[in-house]
Amino acid sequence: MDHFSYHDGVLHCESVDLPTLADQFGTPLYVYSKKTLLDHYDRFALAFAPLDAVICFSVKSCHNLSILRLLKECGAAFDVVSGGELKRTLEVDADPSRIVFAGVGKTDTEIRAALEVGIGWFNVESEAELDNVATIAAKLGKVARVALRVNPDVDPKTHVYTTTGKRETKFGVDLERARQVFKDFHSRPGLELCGIHMHIGSPVNTIEPYVASIGKGLTLIDELRGDGHRIKAINIGGGFGAHYDGGEAPPASAYAERIVPLLRGRGLTVLLEPGRSIAANAGVLLTRTLYTKASGDRQFIIVDAAITELIRPALYGSFHFAWPVEPKDGAIPPDRRADVHLAGSVLVDIVGPVCESGDFLAKDRWLPPVSRGDFVCIFSTGAYGFTMSSQYNSRPRAAEVLVDGGAARLIRRREKYDDLVTAERF
Ligand SMILES: *Cc1c(COP(=O)(O)O)cnc(C)c1O
Repeated sequence: MDHFSYHDGVLHCESVDLPTLADQFGTPLYVYSKKTLLDHYDRFALAFAPLDAVICFSVKSCHNLSILRLLKECGAAFDVVSGGELKRTLEVDADPSRIVFAGVGKTDTEIRAALEVGIGWFNVESEAELDNVATIAAKLGKVARVALRVNPDVDPKTHVYTTTGKRETKFGVDLERARQVFKDFHSRPGLELCGIHMHIGSPVNTIEPYVASIGKGLTLIDELRGDGHRIKAINIGGGFGAHYDGGEAPPASAYAERIVPLLRGRGLTVLLEPGRSIAANAGVLLTRTLYTKASGDRQFIIVDAAITELIRPALYGSFHFAWPVEPKDGAIPPDRRADVHLAGSVLVDIVGPVCESGDFLAKDRWLPPVSRGDFVCIFSTGAYGFTMSSQYNSRPRAAEVLVDGGAARLIRRREKYDDLVTAERF
């Protein structure tokens, strides 16, 4: 599952112990395991190799340049949702023709920048956007290769905030309208409208929603081809699961086992946009206990990480397993599940220093006793952890470290107070 484990009572990332990293780089600290990251990518690439699929890593899930470069070296393509993310991929010399630009609200500046570098694909979400992309491309004397995002109206059974493939969300065009959109735009100068894109939500821990949406997508492609359109590609999106609460995510091979037969031999380039399934389990958030206190019958562990470092619990009610790095009495968790409850444990909430009652990282957990100064690890935070961080309460952003075997390298320095004010003017 990953390369974070307890040896002699101390949590390690690969062969480096986390207290050493905390001493060297300070806390709060994001720690990534290179081996875990590459294992997850390789498993994905291998599972979908029979389709010769283009694996476009979702940059918004984990955007550190060192991480992007590692993935690029392994053969990953990229999925970006902003001009800023495009900049990051260009910084690591990614091939622009293997980059997909997605998102419901691309600005003219972003569209122009993407066309100028020769972006591979635009995933376009509406007729108004198609019209705009066509106009800008024609003006630049370019042709934008476009996949229309269609909404397969499939319920992925995930959080309402991360459900994107149902009819009533803001994403994509309804299946019934898609045929008309292709009719209206197929001969528009500046456009090569030749693919469809679907992304149903995230995380999707069952395979059935993919089977259902791909089935609907293929039916549409058959109709479009019947109408005389040349359809080259299907992009099946991301949202594949990661392990947050034990081992709930199907392996890449299980998704592929059902998906590959549907798409093989269809004369389509297949693109995927996995993010969390590659990055989530490759990172942890390491934090230090500032204080403990009791309030009523509840114990609070106040740590130096907050919603500024990890907003997922507050934003989506996401579960992240948390445990002391050097648990007292050798209380090593048998697995990383919500229901772990060892003898001698105390019921706690783990909260941060930010002035919001929504500032919590974990609620109602049975943890071995924790004292001031103890390190606590928040697991499975490699995706949508650092990338969603903020400077709220004027908190400098955390540092990021990449571990490779017995070596640790700083891949983002901790921000300083100067970084907080440098863009401002009197
Ligand atoms: C966020 C997003 C992804 C990545 O989702 P993961 O859950 O990280 O795999 C892929 N495609 C689109 C369009 C997205 O918005």
